[in-house]
This record gives sequence, C-alpha cells and structure tokens, in this order.
Amino acid sequence: MSNCLFCKIVAGEIPSSKVYEDDQIFVFNDISPKAAVHLLVIPKIHIVSLDDLTSEHQVLIAYMMLKLPELARAQGLDDGFRTIINTGPGGGQEVGHLHLHILGGKGMPGFN
Ligand code: 5GP
Ligand code: ZN
Repeated sequence: MSNCLFCKIVAGEIPSSKVYEDDQIFVFNDISPKAAVHLLVIPKIHIVSLDDLTSEHQVLIAYMMLKLPELARAQGLDDGFRTIINTGPGGGQEVGHLHLHILGGKGMPGFN
C-alpha cells in the first residue's frame, strides 16, 4: 500500500524506533506512548484491520499472538502486559494497517 504510514515504516521510508523484525512482523515503539512500554506489533503485509482478515491470514495471526510474550519479556515486562487491538472508527483505530498494542510498566492506563 503506497500511502500507508505503517507500510512506509516497514519499508524504512519513515523512521521508527524498531525493537524487533523478522520476515513476517515488524515491532516498534509507539510515537506517543501511553505507558512506560508501548509497542506496536504489525504484519509486514498490508492488512487494514481485523475486519479484513481471511482464512489466508490464520498462520500469520497465530504467529503474531505467539510472539507477544517473548516481545513483552524482552522489554522487561516479566509479570504481564496488556494487549489492545482497535478495529475501525468505532473501535478508535487511527492508522489503517492492522496493529497490536503491547502496553506495560508504569503509567499503564486503566481499562475503560
Ligand atoms: P490506533 O489508535 O490506530 O489503534 O493506534 C495508532 C497508534 O499509532 C497510536 O498509538 C499512535 O500514537 C501511533 N502512531 C501514529 N503515528 C505514528 C508514527 O508515525 N510512528 C509511530 N511509532 N507511532 C505512530
Ligand atoms: Zn500498510
């Protein structure tokens, strides 16, 4: 997707504070962190949201989920973390490339 912010981050066209990358996912610090640790985990391929998933994405989504504890632990979140996925305008999604928030540490916002 040529005009997608997160695709541009994956491509290195827009700088980011990367914490992890492999052939399927890209992980970076949120530019406006809501807690001491606030990562964004995204697939490298452009998928707009959970609403756009098909059965073709099953392995990729499972892979992302299975990676989360390892990513959180690498940030020092040894006793747990919060995950958030916003979907569509009604869910408060601001960037139209599927992303999973990992939050933890000091200042983590309440769940409301
Ligand atoms: P959403 O509300 O769509 O679930 O979350 C989008 C997130 O992307 C927000 O937490 C916002 O701070 C973050 N964000 C928006 N633009 C950028 C950017 O250019 N770089 C980084 N690292 N994060 C961004
Ligand atoms: Zn994209």
